[in-house]
Amino acid sequence: MTVNCYIGLGSNLADPQTQIDWALAALRALPASYLEAVAPRYRSWAIGPGTQPDYINTAVRLRTDLDPLPLLRALQLLENSRGRQRSGVLWSPRPLDLDILLYGQRQIATPELTIPHPRLVQRNFVLAPLHDLDPELRLPDGSPIARLLARIGCEGIVRLAEGSCQ
Ligand code: ATP
Ligand code: CA
Ligand code: CA
Repeated sequence: MTVNCYIGLGSNLADPQTQIDWALAALRALPASYLEAVAPRYRSWAIGPGTQPDYINTAVRLRTDLDPLPLLRALQLLENSRGRQRSGVLWSPRPLDLDILLYGQRQIATPELTIPHPRLVQRNFVLAPLHDLDPELRLPDGSPIARLLARIGCEGIVRLAEGSCQ
């Protein structure tokens, strides 16, 4: 069955803008999938240990026939091919991070895959591009993305295109 899936993209190493360009081209080439919409990019302060370069973040809407786990594996292959090191240190800098944010209305809670992405509601750099893609979007529990974004505001993120974040 074809599902509307939302993927978050982030990069803060090795020329982030070029990494995101590369990732978008790779997502366009994913099997059994159609890249339907790409959000504006944001520059955002890094979370995580030490002083890190800013991130470039965006999100996409992908129509896909891939099941959630094969989709996750395909995204991890793309991360690996950009030289992603899995150091085990949470939130360390990386050339490319691809997270499954939403997969239709599905809710999944396993160690390998949690959907909706568990930290989505507390991250404006994820909520803002999601809201740009679909202002009416809701989580499976009914919470409107617009309300979640309004609650945390736009501190630390700048949209790299016309308009402000809300
Ligand atoms: P965060 O999850 O807080 O954004 P991160 O993106 O830096 O942190 P990673 O090191 O990229 O975390 O991923 C750690 C593990 O998270 C992956 O190996 C994957 O199995 C798991 N994971 C669970 N849910 C998801 C999801 N929705 N999308 C991507 N990975 C997920
Ligand atoms: Ca992430
Ligand atoms: Ca990730």
